[in-house]
Amino acid sequence: MAKGQISVQTENIFPIIKKFLYSDQEIFLRELVSNAVDASSKLKTLASKGEYDGELGDMTIDIKIDDNKLIIQDRGIGMTAEEVDKYLNQLAFSSAEEFLEKYKDEASIIGHFGLGFYSAFMVAEKVEVITKSYKDAPAAKWSCTGNPEYEIEEADKTERGTEIILHVSDDSKEFLEEARIQGLLDKYCKFLPFPIRFGTKTESTWEGEGDDRKEIKTEVDNIINSKDPLWKKNPSDLTDDDYRDFYSYLYPYSQPPLFWIHLNIDYPFNLTGILYFPKVNNSIEIQKNKIQLYSNQVYVTDDVSQIVPEFLTLLHGVIDSPDIPLNVSRSYLQSDSNVKKITSYITKKVADKLASLYKEDRGQFEEKWDEISVFVKYGMISEDKFYDKAIKFALLKNIKDDYFTIDEYKEKIEATQKDKHDKIIHLYTTDIKEHHSYIESAEAYGYDVLSMDNIIDNHFMQQLEQKLSYGTFVRVDSDTVDNLVQTDETKESVLSEKEQEKVESIFKAILPESGGPNLEMKPLSPTDHPVIITKPEFMRRMMEMQQLQSMGANGMPEIFNVVINTNHPMVAEKLVKMRSDEKKEKFASYLYDLARLNQNMLKGEELSKFIKKSLEFVS
Ligand code: ADP
Repeated sequence: MAKGQISVQTENIFPIIKKFLYSDQEIFLRELVSNAVDASSKLKTLASKGEYDGELGDMTIDIKIDDNKLIIQDRGIGMTAEEVDKYLNQLAFSSAEEFLEKYKDEASIIGHFGLGFYSAFMVAEKVEVITKSYKDAPAAKWSCTGNPEYEIEEADKTERGTEIILHVSDDSKEFLEEARIQGLLDKYCKFLPFPIRFGTKTESTWEGEGDDRKEIKTEVDNIINSKDPLWKKNPSDLTDDDYRDFYSYLYPYSQPPLFWIHLNIDYPFNLTGILYFPKVNNSIEIQKNKIQLYSNQVYVTDDVSQIVPEFLTLLHGVIDSPDIPLNVSRSYLQSDSNVKKITSYITKKVADKLASLYKEDRGQFEEKWDEISVFVKYGMISEDKFYDKAIKFALLKNIKDDYFTIDEYKEKIEATQKDKHDKIIHLYTTDIKEHHSYIESAEAYGYDVLSMDNIIDNHFMQQLEQKLSYGTFVRVDSDTVDNLVQTDETKESVLSEKEQEKVESIFKAILPESGGPNLEMKPLSPTDHPVIITKPEFMRRMMEMQQLQSMGANGMPEIFNVVINTNHPMVAEKLVKMRSDEKKEKFASYLYDLARLNQNMLKGEELSKFIKKSLEFVS
């Protein structure tokens, strides 16, 4: 037996390893299984090059729990005693040491690759390595009890490969529980390239008919990674069903995806993966954190926010890249040039996919539009490069459910909805039902109305206004219909100026003296409503933005205008001809209530009063 001391530059680093990233202790298993996979791959490579001519045999990697021991056993390349000394005592130790030295003060580290073999000491009080090289050399046993001293001796292992035995310490007993280990293996090892076996499991089948029918239970190997990593395959060998199956394997309770993109690049960086477009509804938040990041098929994290642009985190799927630096801090990651390239590659791929779907089958693209529009709009708002591509296929939908590209829509409304400043006015509604009467008026004017009912549309319209110099967006209830698209035309008034003033004074009397809405007299069409409430576009948007950022705008009074249509017979004939002032005011306030009702502004007590009043009128 030989004894030695691991070369230590800093004081004893074992206590640091033990405490390091306490919440991420579990990654020791990933590190050790990854090592076992590496050792197996190396042997396979040697065999394929003719440098190893023995039998490869069954290369299943075994994970076992035995009393207070957790064992990871591979049939890979193994190590000779000299290699144990070189790789474990010197290289692995110094790289673990270097890693800790660098990152012990970092609050947040993603990935955590790099600590390697020595991460075993996060959970074990003693680690034994029994290994036999593929070369003709005696087996070796290395053991270390979590201080810089180790022992190395000859062992009687006859089978090629390495066995790592962790004597799990008292405060890490959870890693001796079958369910915990099963969970970890499922998380990290589902797609590893060698079979990972964790004991056996019971499978039951049924035999016989009727009363003779009985359950047959058989013990079978519990293989963790029974599904191939689809992203590693050649897209031309895969069918749509393969992609859908894989999706339902990754997200068992989700609806089928809309479509997908197979990523595959090896220069200037290596990246493979499949990104799926899920069915999205109006709630963006819950959809996030669905992309899984792998490094050489080893699961790393489902937080890809630093690698994938924010809007793409709505997608689902898998990204696998050994070129994403995983053992560094977030701030470093953001400035990493590989990460930047990966980000723009993915953005471009996604935009290209959408563009080709649009080109190849416009009908189908329109069918899917409602579900992908949040995503596309989000992308156009947040990424200029994506905007430049998406502006060609992003669609606007009008209330008749017709779809137009931005350019097509411009062409459609140019002749009818251009104002006196040569701006093209895009009229829209956020709620077809609520704005019914406003939409009716706009359509009577020959205008087209867009449906903009998504939470993201406010920002989207603002973005378009900034980018497209020719147009603006105006909600149908933001002004009276004659003024939605401002022209120089003036309407003839039925009433004289004096009569108009009189009407104004009646309405003034029923509105609050200060802080109330703006009052305006307008000779509109007799078929428009007698009193109309409008919500000026600019003010309304400001309020909505504030509400969205929850800056406490909820208590703020709503800003709106009250427009009296002085050409409406109820005003021009009925109201002005009434005798008593009391009657006039009562009638005016009834018309005002009707306008408020139309804007869904009459609620609670006011609504009850209104109903009472109406009953009086009809009786
Ligand atoms: P890394 O895997 O990043 O090189 P580790 O600290 O995990 O660092 O391991 C150090 C070295 O020990 C490995 O490079 C490898 O040569 C050797 N090693 C670790 N585990 C095994 C194993 N199961 N079989 C053969 N060699 C191994």
